[in-house]
Amino acid sequence: MVIYIKNEIEYFEGCLIGGALGDALGWPIEFMKLNEIKKTYGENGLTHLILSDDGKAQITDDTQMTMFTAEGLLRAESRLTNKGICHAPTVVYFAYQRWLFTQGYPKKKEIDFIYNGWLLEIDRLFAVRAPGNSCVSSLLKSEKGTKENLINNSKGCGAVMRSAPFGLFLDKDTAFEIAIETAALTHGHPTGQLAAGALAFMIAEIIEGQSIIEAAFSTIDKLRNEKEKESIECISKIEDAISLS
Ligand SMILES: [Mg+2]
Repeated sequence: MVIYIKNEIEYFEGCLIGGALGDALGWPIEFMKLNEIKKTYGENGLTHLILSDDGKAQITDDTQMTMFTAEGLLRAESRLTNKGICHAPTVVYFAYQRWLFTQGYPKKKEIDFIYNGWLLEIDRLFAVRAPGNSCVSSLLKSEKGTKENLINNSKGCGAVMRSAPFGLFLDKDTAFEIAIETAALTHGHPTGQLAAGALAFMIAEIIEGQSIIEAAFSTIDKLRNEKEKESIECISKIEDAISLS
């Protein structure tokens, strides 16, 4: 199937709905080994959405957090327009604190002014579907993680899985930087951060007219310019994905 994208709004819809659909498709087998998946669903694995009792496929923390990233960026943009100053990762951090609240954790008294907005009014977003440990444990702490003050040594997928909106909303170099800085809120290992920057950069490249493969190669070039030696790890994973495609 080929989806032709005609304008920017369609990029946003295509990316966010496509991400949610992929999340809903993969979630039922998220914690299964390959042989278990094949045993249960056949050689081709799971090829259709599994619906729950209400007739809907389920999304997980990945899609929930992506929505809060998008909300945070919209609020950051609004603040920049109204006040002329804004630190986007902090505004997105507040959005992630709202997400944490949806997962059943108490509101933080010292930032009680942040608990508002349309996402908190959507009851279905309060579903708890295997939220990532690194995200939850770092957001529960009183201080924020940064690139200088590492919050842990995690290089899990919890930062990259929520980072698509940076590439939708920002130019590619800014998307790369802000995605990495925001990843550092919850992931201290450079690979956990660079993967988020790479995804954001790739999506921005696609919006600028590159094909997916071209965007993947441009992202590899971008990562090669990084000082962090861990960019090698991120590059090799993108190369693996290209060779499988
Ligand atoms: Mg998940």
